[in-house]
Amino acid sequence: MSFVTETARRIPVFREVDVLVVGGGPTGIMAAAAAARQGLSSLLIERSGFLGGAGTAGGLSTFCGLHSNVHGEHVRTVGGMVPELLDRIDKLGGLRRPHLSFADRIMAQAYDIPAYRLAADQLVLASGAEILFHTFAVGLLMKDDAHIDAVIVETKEGRFALRARFVIDASGDADVAYWSGAEFEKSPPNEMLYPSTMFRINNVDGARAGAAWKTLPQMMDAAVAAGREPFPRRGAIVRPQRDDIEWRANATQLRTPEGLALDGTRIEDLSAGEIQGRQQAQEVFEFIRDNHAGFERSYIVDIGPEIGIRETRRIVGAYQLTEEDVLGGVDFDDAIGINGWPVEAHVDGNVEIRWPHGDAPRGYSQLPYRIMVAPAVSNLLVGGRGASMTHGGHSAARVSGPCFAMGHAAGVAAAIALEDGVSAASVDIAKLQSRLAEQEAILEVKEDMKESVDK
Ligand SMILES: Cc1cc2nc3c(=O)[nH]c(=O)nc-3n(C[C@H](O)[C@H](O)[C@H](O)COP(=O)(O)OP(=O)(O)OC[C@H]3O[C@@H](n4cnc5c(N)ncnc54)[C@H](O)[C@@H]3O)c2cc1C
Repeated sequence: MSFVTETARRIPVFREVDVLVVGGGPTGIMAAAAAARQGLSSLLIERSGFLGGAGTAGGLSTFCGLHSNVHGEHVRTVGGMVPELLDRIDKLGGLRRPHLSFADRIMAQAYDIPAYRLAADQLVLASGAEILFHTFAVGLLMKDDAHIDAVIVETKEGRFALRARFVIDASGDADVAYWSGAEFEKSPPNEMLYPSTMFRINNVDGARAGAAWKTLPQMMDAAVAAGREPFPRRGAIVRPQRDDIEWRANATQLRTPEGLALDGTRIEDLSAGEIQGRQQAQEVFEFIRDNHAGFERSYIVDIGPEIGIRETRRIVGAYQLTEEDVLGGVDFDDAIGINGWPVEAHVDGNVEIRWPHGDAPRGYSQLPYRIMVAPAVSNLLVGGRGASMTHGGHSAARVSGPCFAMGHAAGVAAAIALEDGVSAASVDIAKLQSRLAEQEAILEVKEDMKESVDK
């Protein structure tokens, strides 16, 4: 690669805030709102023109990880501002009752994407936080090795600096942590979770489609086995949205010419993936339309605005959440939330689900605060899918529910760090847990919660 040299230039400081949150996915939404509700000036920046992260930009339309299967009972195990978010989506007419997923073992909940975008705007703005859309963080200025001074952003108006006393990296790719020099890891391309392009189908005759979520994957697998179709993966997830007229399809898998997972931090991979994903969406859709009852008059109403990236950089924090923690239902002294979603590994050509050990297990593990702490940087927390988890731990705790929980905790922890004048690593855990409990975060499942089962 050849190089050019950029001339040094003065960068205007566009905002000076207490807390800057980079990335408006589930983690960033809750982090920005939580910090603002603690009385801090809180700024959320997002490179797109809407919130929701992969949940909207990736076209997902289902919340996973809001519930746990606790000894056979389905309990909502993410609290904090999540009920308020669900309520706002519901008031917009955009929420379906939770449904059972993956062999009926765990609950998930479908939502309409525009309603989620609207509700997320409302929740964040009601908290007092400010949002800047179309603002792409591209680098950092450090005060010294351990302190971030400002985040550099590119916008249509040009380059700005956003100065913050504390930064929460909710970019999903741990961008800020990466620029700060914090330690991170990335699975090798033959192990990284494969990305997918999501799409939705409209004008489905729901009555005739029936339980197509069971029959379609079998039909697709049979077509591949018979050599009639080259679908890229087994385990297609196809489900109705709020109304049975509209269905979502999570059925594609994006790979390099060598068959490896595309890398969501490389522009050539991202570009090839967008094209490949839309092509696969068309092929899968045409099979569904031409082969399954109820889909004859259907059409693709939307393809995710961008490909869905499941895994890229993960920081190596003060602790790494492991697959064994998830499957063993491990508790932590510094718990800040709960994850009840199983390991959902999008491996080459398939989706593997691994469940907590034992018969009728407790069904969840706690999320330790330390997975958000990048020890070398004192005014930074990294939440969501960029947090400190092994590949296996991440394969479970990367879904929306635990990301909401991490974001909430990161916003409150930032406030405590600033109030007490301590680093992220030295936040008083008892204080954090008691504030989270006051704000109805769920750190453990109690008997009386089983009354509030959504079935
Ligand atoms: C195909 C696919 C299907 C999935 N299905 C489900 C599902 O059904 N249910 C579920 O709950 N989870 C699902 N997941 C997982 C889940 O959506 C994500 O893991 C989750 O959204 C991660 O949340 P996050 O806040 O860490 O990051 P993200 O949701 O990735 O949000 C990060 C945000 O930061 C922004 N951003 C990134 N870099 C910058 C930057 N430098 N400057 C400014 N903004 C930036 C992005 O635009 C994005 O909005 C799926 C994931 C994929 C890829």
